[in-house]
Amino acid sequence: MPAKTAIIDFNRCRPDECSDGVCPAALACRRKILVQEKPGEIPMVNPAICRSCSDCVRACPLNAIKITLV
Ligand code: SF4
Ligand code: SF4
Repeated sequence: MPAKTAIIDFNRCRPDECSDGVCPAALACRRKILVQEKPGEIPMVNPAICRSCSDCVRACPLNAIKITLV
């Protein structure tokens, strides 16, 4: 089966509009694969270890995360 991963849409992601700059999608990633270094920064995914569970997709209020084939 092809691998899937979460990817951030940089045109949609607006950390300053999310919970005082704290990314709710990163908080929703229980495995800490989607990581925000500090408030106000765009979070990053490590595609090699993303489980494509979509928890982050559901938690992002701006629809800035998608699951895609890699
Ligand atoms: S919740 Fe979505 S829009 Fe907000 S910082 Fe995280 S990825 Fe970006
Ligand atoms: S799809 Fe799941 S494992 Fe991958 S970054 Fe999002 S919450 Fe984390």
